[in-house]
Amino acid sequence: MCGLIGIVGTDDSAYESFVGLLNLQHRGQDGAGILTVDTKRYQFNIQKGSGLVENVFSERSLRSLRGPAAIGHTRYATIGRRDPNLLQPFLDDESGIAIGHNGNIVNCYQLKEELLKADPNTCFASESDSEVILQLLVAALANKKITAEGLFAAIALAMEKLVGSYAVVGLTKDCSLFGFRDPWGIRPLFVGKKETGNANSVYAMASETVALDYLGYTDIQEVAPGEAVFISLDQKVKRKTIMTKTYSPCMFEWVYFARVESEMSELPVYQARFNLGLILADEIKKRGVEADVVIPVPETSRVAAAAIAESLDIPCRELLIKNRYVNRTFILDDQAARQEAIKRKLFPIAKEIAGKRCLVVDDSIVRGNTALQIIKLIRAAGAKEIVLVSTCPPISSPCYYGIDFPSSSELVAHGRDELSVASELAADKVIYQSVEGLKKALGQTSLCTGCVTQDYPTDISCGVEFEEKRAVDRKKQLSESR
Ligand code: SF4
Repeated sequence: MCGLIGIVGTDDSAYESFVGLLNLQHRGQDGAGILTVDTKRYQFNIQKGSGLVENVFSERSLRSLRGPAAIGHTRYATIGRRDPNLLQPFLDDESGIAIGHNGNIVNCYQLKEELLKADPNTCFASESDSEVILQLLVAALANKKITAEGLFAAIALAMEKLVGSYAVVGLTKDCSLFGFRDPWGIRPLFVGKKETGNANSVYAMASETVALDYLGYTDIQEVAPGEAVFISLDQKVKRKTIMTKTYSPCMFEWVYFARVESEMSELPVYQARFNLGLILADEIKKRGVEADVVIPVPETSRVAAAAIAESLDIPCRELLIKNRYVNRTFILDDQAARQEAIKRKLFPIAKEIAGKRCLVVDDSIVRGNTALQIIKLIRAAGAKEIVLVSTCPPISSPCYYGIDFPSSSELVAHGRDELSVASELAADKVIYQSVEGLKKALGQTSLCTGCVTQDYPTDISCGVEFEEKRAVDRKKQLSESR
């Protein structure tokens, strides 16, 4: 998963992209990049680096990224975490086109082979599937002057071939901003407008509404599944729905990934998490579970925990205190690193926990390492009983669309029921959200729930190759870090 931003119509485009990326930092912490086009020489200017957005860019570097149009990217690695060649945006200077991509192309190896067969000179600087999208566009544009219609036709050709998830923002060398979204709508993308007061408007696109809201954009609209948007420097906006399939937005955006201030498919993330908590509370009541205190695992589960506590009429207490300067464990590479980080990251308030029956609320349980460590911490603090509840149904299968869920065998819920997950995690009980509860909470008639139901919206047969590569990559990183 990654964060995208694109701006056109202001000389502050690089700075606005930087601020936008700061607001999308939660979507990827492995690296960041900003690319601009200036109107003096109509050339791309780019800066990318590993690490957090604020560490990649300085005031000076932002000043050097001149021009009225920019795109930015925060990287969340599913493969090649330490490879600087994988940082985005990617550009093809000759064709005058650059893109940033959020998602994962399931058939990227096949498409790469096809592209190389058609033109052995096709240039790939990295292993990234995003470069496959770029080169499909480059091949379809075939060095023609890029117009909205020409680009829409190229995107249509690319969409015919691409299987997987993709939200893309891009720039052309004549300062036009464009964006498009996969026909299933798995990954999100939004477009907004800002009046500048001098009869000019600035337009922006971003992965989440929070980034556009923060930057003062209004009239924020979702780019529809399979839709492409083209915005020229003279503010002509063209939109076209190119292809649609069954709408299948990723349920995990609402459950965990998106910022709680964002809104997707007209459902605020806050509301979705509150609904998840209320529905889970009904299940907890049905099971006859009694507790003295509801404890959220910071930070994503707070809203659901408040809803559970309200519904059960039990106090909700912040008894796991987070050291905010430690990175999200979900994004760290190997198990040992993650376990150590959890210890460093969370500290229990033992005096409040001792002797209590604790209802611990987490947004999801993936490998189970985090949950196991948290339960150990709470147990050591003297809890009388620990019931772990997950606002997400059991994650038992990999994600082929850009979330770094490992192979099935590494997922604690794979092949285990609630009882055996509880035993693995040393909890007294584990209660998961049901798939029906999830769908009801999100109010979406159609969702991607592949990682919990194995019902994926696209063909995933060729995704196995990617999964194998990812497993090899993980082992390599593990041995390098020792
Ligand atoms: S498989 Fe799961 S994490 Fe991946 S896109 Fe679908 S719902 Fe989201």
